[in-house]
Order: sequence, then structure tokens, then C-alpha cells
Amino acid sequence: MKKFYRCHVCNDIHYGVKPPEICPTCSAKNAYVETNSDEAIKICSYTTKSINKQEFLKAIEALSENKEFQVNPDKEKVSMLIEGIFQNEKNHGLKYCPCRLSSKDPKKDLMLVCPCRFFIHETYKNKPDGECWCGLFIRRKENG
Ligand code: SF4
Repeated sequence: MKKFYRCHVCNDIHYGVKPPEICPTCSAKNAYVETNSDEAIKICSYTTKSINKQEFLKAIEALSENKEFQVNPDKEKVSMLIEGIFQNEKNHGLKYCPCRLSSKDPKKDLMLVCPCRFFIHETYKNKPDGECWCGLFIRRKENG
């Protein structure tokens, strides 16, 4: 059965059958503790609410540093996607993915808060040129 988990080091939220051994956000080992959807919603709200678009871009660049993925180098596309994410925050309260529709159930929609767990997307995994659903993140190129 799927449950919510929270990294006790950086508050990364994971939803799944079990949490990852290594947190994809802060790289802490075995750091996830079980949480519930109410706490997960609160964490997603206060960890992302107070930053502006440039800070958001810096945060996702830091997130992807030394990882197998990177922020898409297509700056125009990234800027459009970030605009959509912030519009969603204005209209729906959280930084939801700009390319997917809200179910209007905040607990279910937690899975759509950006950045989501795109490693599991068919558009990303097992593809040399994989990207997240929207293309905000792409698999890192050799020299990129
Ligand atoms: S698919 Fe990409 S843009 Fe959409 S939530 Fe996930 S990381 Fe963000």
C-alpha cells in the first residue's frame, strides 16, 4: 500500500510503497519517516511559497547538481514552464505541474507538485534522451 514519507533532513515528500534509500533532494541515507497527507500538504506549502521565480530556478538547478538529470538548457521553455507553475500556485495554492490537470483533491494533487518524482515517468526512465513530463528536467548530457 502506498504511503507518504518525509525526509527528516530536507522535508522532501515521497509517495510510494516504500521510501527511497537515498533522498534524491539532499542525498541523506535512510532518512525517510512516514507522514500523512495533511502534513505533506503543509510541508509542500511552506517550503515553496515564499520563493520567487528566480529563486525557484536556482533551487531546481541546485537540486540537479551532480545528478543524472539537469534543468533543460532551453531557457525559453524553462521560463514558460516556471511561469505556468507560478500561475498554478496563484490559482490553486501550490506549485503544481503546468502540464497536468488538477484532480481538485489536494491530497491526490500532492503528486503533481513541481518538481515531481519524474524519474518514474515513461518519458524519462530507460530513455537516453529522457525528460520529465513537461521537459523542465532532461537526462544530463555528457558535456552538459
Ligand atoms: S513533470 Fe516536470 S514540470 Fe511537471 S511537475 Fe514534474 S518536474 Fe515539474
